[in-house]
Amino acid sequence: MISLEQTRLFRKDQRRVLQRRGITTVRDLFFYLPRRYIDRSRNIDLNEVPPGEEVSFIGTVLESQIQYGKRKRLVVTVKSEKNQIEMVYFNGIEYYSKLLKPQSLVAFSGRIESFKDKLSMLHPEMEFVTNEDLIHTGRIVPLYTITGDMQRSGLTSRSIRAAIKRAFKEFGDRIKDHVNEDYLEAEDLMPLRQALEKIHFPESLDEVGKARQRLAFDELLYFSALMEEKRILRESMRKSFQFTIKAEDLKLRQQLLENLPFRLTRDQEMALKSLDEYFSTPHPGGVLLQGDVGSGKTLVALLVALRYIEEGIQVALMAPTEVLARQHFYTFRNFLKDFVFFPMDLLLGSEKAQERKAKLERLRKGETMFVVGTHALIQDDVEFSKLGLVIIDEQHRFGVEQREKLRAKGGLPDILAMTATPIPRSLTLALYGDLEQVIIREKPPGRKPVDTRIYREADLPRIYKSVEKYLSQGRQAYIVYPMIEENEKASYASLLSDFHYLEKTVFPNRRLGLLHGRLSSEEKERAMQKFKEGLIEILVTTTVVEVGVDVPNANIIIIRNAERFGLSQLHQLRGRVGRGEHQSFCILIPSNNITAEGQLRLQAMVESNDGFYLAQRDFEIRGPGEIMGVKQAGVSELRIADLRQDTELLIKARKYLKEHMELYRDITQAKNWKNELQKGMLLFAN
Ligand code: ADP
Ligand code: MG
Repeated sequence: MISLEQTRLFRKDQRRVLQRRGITTVRDLFFYLPRRYIDRSRNIDLNEVPPGEEVSFIGTVLESQIQYGKRKRLVVTVKSEKNQIEMVYFNGIEYYSKLLKPQSLVAFSGRIESFKDKLSMLHPEMEFVTNEDLIHTGRIVPLYTITGDMQRSGLTSRSIRAAIKRAFKEFGDRIKDHVNEDYLEAEDLMPLRQALEKIHFPESLDEVGKARQRLAFDELLYFSALMEEKRILRESMRKSFQFTIKAEDLKLRQQLLENLPFRLTRDQEMALKSLDEYFSTPHPGGVLLQGDVGSGKTLVALLVALRYIEEGIQVALMAPTEVLARQHFYTFRNFLKDFVFFPMDLLLGSEKAQERKAKLERLRKGETMFVVGTHALIQDDVEFSKLGLVIIDEQHRFGVEQREKLRAKGGLPDILAMTATPIPRSLTLALYGDLEQVIIREKPPGRKPVDTRIYREADLPRIYKSVEKYLSQGRQAYIVYPMIEENEKASYASLLSDFHYLEKTVFPNRRLGLLHGRLSSEEKERAMQKFKEGLIEILVTTTVVEVGVDVPNANIIIIRNAERFGLSQLHQLRGRVGRGEHQSFCILIPSNNITAEGQLRLQAMVESNDGFYLAQRDFEIRGPGEIMGVKQAGVSELRIADLRQDTELLIKARKYLKEHMELYRDITQAKNWKNELQKGMLLFAN
């Protein structure tokens, strides 16, 4: 590896600055990728750039002026190829007014705002360019991230570019490709050297795209290598117990199945079979059970759990909310009724100290065979005698490390993670690449798709009338408000005032209940219980009911300010109805100032009842950052690959990796993968 000290590419003080940015070798320099490109062959008309979209262009500073309005600001007028635009600064006024001298040529990037026919940008990113710049580069000008300290030591996009050019001349031949040529050709991927060269000196944006594709492939390859390592590690371990009873001879299971009021769906049976297989191996198993809302995952989990319990091994189930944990507990009780008995407990964290102590004691001694709970389960004082299976419900609501924390409470327990928010395949692989996948697609028979419609607030009186009609037929309804933050004062107030209005004026003869996160644990329980028993006919609530709640008699859900929810969340909420034999309805009521994007989301809900499709749409609209666990999994560390677009590439990379695992062993030994990912990328460009 050639260190920059051995070259004459930079001055000593510049090297020091670069070192602070992690650039110490020629390899690092090659991988210091442009942050954006300006296509000079396209004279952008800034008036035609859609609002909110990021754009880069080169302009000349005409003048700057400090204005004193509501807030002091600096306004710098810039002339671009086709337009005039104002750059607005509220901070660093002194600094920018000195920096942006008239006649300077500057590349600006940011989002365009237009106000009263005037174009403007707020605190744009910027970089100086010179006429020379424009002569020395092709029609595509790559721009690098230039930090303040880089700038002060005279480093600019141009000098970086020049240094990289020289570095290629001197050292380019040393770049070796770790992927074999035939494969690259067959898959239409650029050789590494070419990709690196083209990413810095492209002739067209297409070339940038192709170069990026190759580098993304490498990045995903390393990413997968680390994932694969987790699996290899798991497969090298032995769990502390082995099943002695054959699955088909399990008594508890048989008893439960014989007493169920319905038959398992084919998918449930298949899922159970796969789970039995995965958990019968000598090493700890890990499975992600995916199934759309209402597909009956809970029952499958219970059937899996019974196997452990019959063998005298403890099981823990963790759910994201108290409401849900409690529901699981009672559902299990109900399923098991009198014919199956074993000690079961509920651990919520809200119980009294003495009660909690007693529960923990029973767990520690191994008296409790099955414990259901919330985050309370991962607290330090929770100990097991013989924990063999950890079930995580609504896995997407937990981070990876929470799952691991519960897992660590047993020797080497099996893991069953369940999620009703299916995520696109690329992300599944990225987040749960170390888990086996089992999918339930089919729903229990007789379910009719939920009839979903969008209405306006003005339609509410009409909607309430039809709610009244269904209530008189014996059905129940949810009305959901977007109290996204349970401590949000304003929305709390509006929830309460609406509740009173609904109770007093709209439905004076009906029994209404209120459920939200500010209630105490007992109050929540009471409200849920009454709703279940039909004593409450309309449940006015927040996203507390979002996940898992199961009341088959409810057939209407009205969602107020529906645009404030993400697609997956809306689908989850909708999943509260359509659980019984009655035709169900989901009424989406956006507020009047809904955005175009919001409209798109609601439209998608009307178009589809398929959680897998909606998850894909959600992902496309919002990107991966919103999905729980993404940060921990390091997906956000990916610098080049974008899991929104690169699904195919990730699958390719994983396949290539598995066939050439021996080449990538070094990476799989890595402890701190974040560093290794970046170093790893460089391993082969020496
Ligand atoms: P999920 O957790 O997958 O969203 P649930 O486990 O809450 O779904 O199941 C939804 C409802 O369907 C529950 O009321 C459950 O009792 C019921 N159910 C489960 N399996 C079947 C089946 N095979 N046939 C009929 N109803 C079922
Ligand atoms: Mg569920």
